[in-house]
Amino acid sequence: MIDKRNIVIKIGSALLANQDLLTPRFGFLQRLMEDVTRLRAEGHDVILCSSGSVALGLRIVGETPETAGVSDKQAAAACGMPLLLNAYKQVGHEFGLEIAQVLLTLDDFEDHRRFLNTRNTVHRLLEAGVIPIINENDSITTEEIRVGDNDRLAAKVAQMIGAKDLIILTGVDGLYDRNPDDPDARFVPEVDDVSEYMAATQGKSTLGTGGMATKLQAANMAQEAGCTTWIAQGEADRPLSSVLSGERRATRIIANPNPRSGWDSWITNRLQMAGSLCVSNAVADALDGGARSVRREDVISMDGDFTRGDVLHIYDGKGIERARGLSDFTSEEIRVLTNNPDTAAEQLLGYRTRGEIIRSANLVPLDTRHLLWDAPEAIA
Ligand code: GLU
Repeated sequence: MIDKRNIVIKIGSALLANQDLLTPRFGFLQRLMEDVTRLRAEGHDVILCSSGSVALGLRIVGETPETAGVSDKQAAAACGMPLLLNAYKQVGHEFGLEIAQVLLTLDDFEDHRRFLNTRNTVHRLLEAGVIPIINENDSITTEEIRVGDNDRLAAKVAQMIGAKDLIILTGVDGLYDRNPDDPDARFVPEVDDVSEYMAATQGKSTLGTGGMATKLQAANMAQEAGCTTWIAQGEADRPLSSVLSGERRATRIIANPNPRSGWDSWITNRLQMAGSLCVSNAVADALDGGARSVRREDVISMDGDFTRGDVLHIYDGKGIERARGLSDFTSEEIRVLTNNPDTAAEQLLGYRTRGEIIRSANLVPLDTRHLLWDAPEAIA
C-alpha cells in the first residue's frame, strides 16, 4: 500500500489528440481515468494538468500544428477546450468521477494573493471529491504573459497544493543522457541534480509546447518544494500506478529531503522574471546567510519595469544569479533612490521608509541545486 498523498498528473497533448486526425484519444483517456480511480480508491487526491486544447481545436480553425500562429492557437484553444473537457467528462462518468475545469494564467502563480485564491479553489474541489482539470487559459494569454508549457504549470500546481508526486506523462519513456536517437544514449532512471542534464535536453514535441528541458525545469521546481517528479511514457495499461510502484521504466527526479517553506518556494520558483538587480560579489556572499537585506547602496545596476511585491533576481558581479527576493519598491522608486545616494529616502519618496530594497525575511539565497537564470543583457 502506497502512502496517501496528493498526486499531480501532467498529460501531454500527443497522448490526448490523434496525431493525424487531431481528435480525442478515448482509449488513452479510459486507461488514464481507470488508473485515477484506482489511486483515489487508495486514498490519494488526484489533480490533472491537461494539455490538448490547442491540438483538439486546430482543425476547427482550419490549421495544423505546423501552420498555426499565435492567434490561431489562441482561437484553437477556445474551440478545443470544450472537446477536451467533454471527453474527460464522458470517460469520467463511466468511472463515477466528477471533474471540474480550472483555467489559469501566469499571474495566478506569480501574484501571491491570486496564488492563494487559486489554491483555496483547488483544495475546495478536492474536499468535494472532484478532480480538478487544470490548464492554462491560452485564449486570453499573449506571449509575454503566459506560462507557455504545462510542465512548469503542473510543477507550480504541485507546489501550490503540497503534492508529494508529480507524474509527467509524455511520448517518451523518460530522460536520456543525450539525444535518444543517438545509439550511445543511456536511459537515466534517477536524477538528483537536474542541472547535470540540462545540456542534453534540446528539442521540442510537435503537438505540445514543452520538451525535455521544460520537464527538467518543472522537476527542479517540484523537488525544491518536496515533490518527486516522474517522467514516463503515457501509453501503458496502468499509466500512473505502474510508475509509482516502480513496475515500469520512468525517470524519477527525487524530492529535496529538506524542502523549502511554502513562502520560500513561492519566491524562488518563478515562471517569468519581473526584474533583476546586480550587487557586488561581497554583498552577494553576505546574502548567502539569508540574514542580510539588499540596501539601496548595494545596487550596482537594475533591469526591468516592476512593481512593489514583484520578485527580483539578484546577480553578483560575475553575472551569476545568487538570490531571489520581493521588492519593497517599484523600479521607478529604486531608480530615484540609487540615482540620489546622498538624499534621504523619505525626502525622495515622500513617505517614511528604511530604504531597504529587499528585506531579509523576503530574500531567499539560491542553493546549488536550483536552476539559475541567465542575467539579462542590461545588467550582465
Ligand atoms: N495549454 C496547451 C494546450 O492545452 C498545452 C501547453 C503544453 O503543451 O505544454 O494545448
